[in-house]
Amino acid sequence: MVEKGKPRSIANTSGANARPTSRFSLIPVVALQFYRLSVLVLGIETSCDESGVALYDVGLGLLGHALHTQVAMHRDYGGVVPELASRDHIRRLPVLIRQVLEESRRDLSQIDAIAYTAGPGLAGALLVGASVAQGLAFSLGLPCVAIHHLEGHLLAPFLSGSPPELPFIALLVSGGHTQLMQVSALGRYELLGESVDDAAGEAFDKTAQMLGLGYPGGPALATLAEQGSATRYVFPRPMLHSNDLNFSFSGLKTAALTALKRETAGHKAYADLAASFQAAVVDVLVSKTCKAMEQTGVKRLVVAGGVGANTRLRAQLSEKARVSGFQVSYPKLEFCTDNGAMIAFAGALRLRQGQTDGRFQIRPRWPLSSLSAL
Ligand code: ADP
Ligand code: MG
Repeated sequence: MVEKGKPRSIANTSGANARPTSRFSLIPVVALQFYRLSVLVLGIETSCDESGVALYDVGLGLLGHALHTQVAMHRDYGGVVPELASRDHIRRLPVLIRQVLEESRRDLSQIDAIAYTAGPGLAGALLVGASVAQGLAFSLGLPCVAIHHLEGHLLAPFLSGSPPELPFIALLVSGGHTQLMQVSALGRYELLGESVDDAAGEAFDKTAQMLGLGYPGGPALATLAEQGSATRYVFPRPMLHSNDLNFSFSGLKTAALTALKRETAGHKAYADLAASFQAAVVDVLVSKTCKAMEQTGVKRLVVAGGVGANTRLRAQLSEKARVSGFQVSYPKLEFCTDNGAMIAFAGALRLRQGQTDGRFQIRPRWPLSSLSAL
């Protein structure tokens, strides 16, 4: 028996009574899948305003996942309130863990390891996930591994039935990030470009708020844009011709505000403004993404993050892909936005390498390039 409260290393194979977790470092995932051996990883995500929990079985795949979004709670404040986010994660995690275990017909004693998001994200929110993961791991005598949130996003496409082949370029467009990444192998991520100020989703949300569309207003702005003219307002395309693959969206938001102040309120004017703003954001995203495809010569593109749901963005990227001859894939939205499944999966891969974290840690700022290769 493993002593309660004594963390053990997943790579520790010594001792006749070593639990099955030790298999991770010895047998590749493919072999585990072949023999259908069960190695169960609990994943916990709390980097911002979504509590996500999942159970990933190295042999069987994703057994279940559950998500609670705090959008309704933050709506009254027009943005995420960090303290409220942390408190809500504390309330939700035990419920979600119980729910995922029940739905997956497993119990705590069957878990082999725990993976949690250690960063980047809101410090208080990360602390909740780290505390629950490390506390649970300690009490059950299980190994625990700290996962980079963006690595989770980049590996999320592998949760789908038809994962993209490597290498691929990832356009990560969410409320918190706008990044172009080259994924040449598992664990090898190169940042090609990113927003130097607001993320695309953030710009959508802030502009939507000016138009009185609530929070987060990205989807509402996109819906309103369908009824407007994308050419009535000529908004700038920031950094379109810069020599790098970076983005900038905060000036665009200011341009929208200036135009709004000059307008008399009305549905038509607001719809035109929404359409013109959306067209400017999408033009820049598409142009820089195509530039990244050309510069790297990579022939596959994966679009992740909430803004990846935008119809105009999808239509334009798909058209460019058709003309330029690259493949574009959009993982299921449930795996594009924050979720526990991507953390459990990334955890399974890192645990297989024998990586565990004995010490409690969160890293609100954490460069992806500092990760070790898988
Ligand atoms: P984060 O976790 O960083 O907030 P998510 O991946 O959860 O990001 O995505 C949420 C963001 O996506 C929000 O900014 C939201 O407004 C934006 N978003 C969702 N759907 C759309 C859409 N159809 N068009 C534009 N933005 C969208
Ligand atoms: Mg989110």
